[in-house]
Amino acid sequence: MENKKLIYLDYNATTPVDQSVMDAMIPYFTTMFGNASSDHFFGWDADEAVERSRASIATLVGCKSNEITFTSGATEAANISLYGFCEGNKDKGNHIITVSTEHNSVLKTMEALESKGFTVTYLNVDSEGNINIDELRDNITDRTFLVAIMLANNETGLLHPIKEIANIVHSKGVKLLCDITQAVGKIPVNLKELEIDLAFFSSHKIYGPKGVGALFINNGSQLTIKTVIFGGGQEGGLRSGTLNVPAIVGFGIAAEKAMEVMEDQMLRTAKTREYLESELKQIEGVTIISENSKRLPNTTNFSVENIDGTKLLRRLNTIAISRGSACHSNTVQPSHVLKAMGLTDNEALSSFRISLGRNTNFDEVEIAVKSIKESINSLQNVIV
Ligand code: PMP
Repeated sequence: MENKKLIYLDYNATTPVDQSVMDAMIPYFTTMFGNASSDHFFGWDADEAVERSRASIATLVGCKSNEITFTSGATEAANISLYGFCEGNKDKGNHIITVSTEHNSVLKTMEALESKGFTVTYLNVDSEGNINIDELRDNITDRTFLVAIMLANNETGLLHPIKEIANIVHSKGVKLLCDITQAVGKIPVNLKELEIDLAFFSSHKIYGPKGVGALFINNGSQLTIKTVIFGGGQEGGLRSGTLNVPAIVGFGIAAEKAMEVMEDQMLRTAKTREYLESELKQIEGVTIISENSKRLPNTTNFSVENIDGTKLLRRLNTIAISRGSACHSNTVQPSHVLKAMGLTDNEALSSFRISLGRNTNFDEVEIAVKSIKESINSLQNVIV
């Protein structure tokens, strides 16, 4: 791989830490290393930094500081909120509605809840990944107490109409949990305008460090979330454990930077993606997935007919794109998202996600397109 420029086009999997984020974090590893719970000046400094970050993160997603709980990431926040909600509201119901294309942080938690006696309905999606709103409405019963639907799908970028969903869900007295992990930083997200009750997201998707995330609990929703992580009682007792102060500081700066650059980024990324997709569509056998639906501006998922997906990835050895979601790309399983959208195993295994980011420049996309075209052509020409 020497002398070859590596091109990263997998920003939905994770992002590099922004330099301003890195600079802000460093003192909290070394000189300002205090435990945010300690009652002395080292602790006070750390605590102040944590609260500054909480305020920045709250501003990014349009909520109040005291509605943000720090966690180790979106997955932990999904577990805490889903388990905590179900355990805390057993008297109000036992039925949850979600969608078959959710991230595994939600789907696997649902499986665990089913084994505890809760009932889960998995809504189907159409070939673009959209749910049928009438089907959602029809599935709500008087035992339904929670609906969990993501804002933006990590694999296709598809956006669900969360505001409309919130109206339906609330009109039936049900609460709405929303995975906003992929949307935050890429498009404006205002939790109060969207009328979401519970939400979660991760720092490493917005050029912050890994290992820190946030859980939003709407003050106005009067929710009972039962504690599922026990210990020192940090974060209002919901997420015990010494706070990861450097990461939280980084997350806060990443949120500030995201607000600063988002508008520009959205425009720039959308333009680059337009070029990317117009080029990909010229390749024989290529289909852009969810093309006719509202999507994140940075995400393209495309399938290639009659191709061995593994071979294509091997040929693109200087270009980082993904197949399925990153979380299980070392076990080659067809994506559950694409399968739910009606693709066969083979079609799903020859579908790829390109996700553009802040550091993506036009030249890189040109090189990637050229390389993808050449690789597909050469693989399609192999006679077996
Ligand atoms: N939800 C979505 C939509 C995601 O894309 C991810 C990360 N791939 C997660 C949840 C989990 O985030 P983390 O790995 O940071 O816990």
